[in-house]
Amino acid sequence: MNTRIWKIIAALVFALCAMLLALGSCAPQDAVQAPPAQTEAPAPEETAPTAGEPAPAEPAPAIEEPAEETASVLPEEEPAVIEEAPEASEAPVVAEAPAEEPQVLDMASMTPAERAAAWGLPAPPEGIDLSEREFKLANAYNSITDQRPNHSYGAGVVVDKVASAGFNAFVEAARAAGYYVTAYSGYVDYWTALENYYQPNVAAYGAEKASKITLVPGCNDHQTALGIDLRMGSADYESSKDFRGTEAWDWLLEHCAEYGVILRYPEGQEQWYGTACMHPCHFRYVGETAARYIMDNNITLEQFMLLYDWDIIYVPGVN
Ligand SMILES: [Zn+2]
Repeated sequence: MNTRIWKIIAALVFALCAMLLALGSCAPQDAVQAPPAQTEAPAPEETAPTAGEPAPAEPAPAIEEPAEETASVLPEEEPAVIEEAPEASEAPVVAEAPAEEPQVLDMASMTPAERAAAWGLPAPPEGIDLSEREFKLANAYNSITDQRPNHSYGAGVVVDKVASAGFNAFVEAARAAGYYVTAYSGYVDYWTALENYYQPNVAAYGAEKASKITLVPGCNDHQTALGIDLRMGSADYESSKDFRGTEAWDWLLEHCAEYGVILRYPEGQEQWYGTACMHPCHFRYVGETAARYIMDNNITLEQFMLLYDWDIIYVPGVN
């Protein structure tokens, strides 16, 4: 009996010990878990990605806050840089403009020689009288409306009497040199320029395009009776109207000034006469003295006239 009792007691003690051990093992586990919870708590705040379970609530604001901070900082810096850049790029533009304006003002009070020097040109010839007929000027900015010239014939077309001898000699010399050029257009009166050339193009294409493909009435050098259009040969009428780049063309540019003739609409200098180079083979009489200076220095009739009288014509961006 005693042994049974002792066995039972021993079994109960064993069971009790086992329970105590089990409780004891649970207690340390709670104690172990607690500290990690405390140590993990600050961790997620510092390193959001490794936070795991407790992190979701806290990291979210932690990520948003820095994002807002950096986002609010960057935009403030970027506009500042952008605003500074334009100011820096505008600065030289503003600095250049004043540099040109005083030059324009100075040009008005300069002598012809001083003006020429300012443009890098040699002193212009003396004895030029811009009130003479050969300096009648029509361009996009200077309309002469209804001009009635002293009619004559030069190179087979109607021109002003002052230009007829020069044009005749010019074309005869070209033919003698082996280049059979022909004048196909000379004087055009205002109403012909309007009704025969300009208005048909306005009707077909509108005023804007018409003014780009036709010289506007009043602004057409043909109305001065001092200009002619030349063509080369007679194989094809239209293609013969533009023979730039040929030997004949080179000869005409080299010798035209000897006959008082210039190239009226040089390509690349459109700013002076105000239209596209619509008549590339258009020659103009100005007299030998002016023609030699203009052709030697590769300038336009407009620039030549401004050398002598700064206010005689208007050229946008120049005077
Ligand atoms: Zn022409």
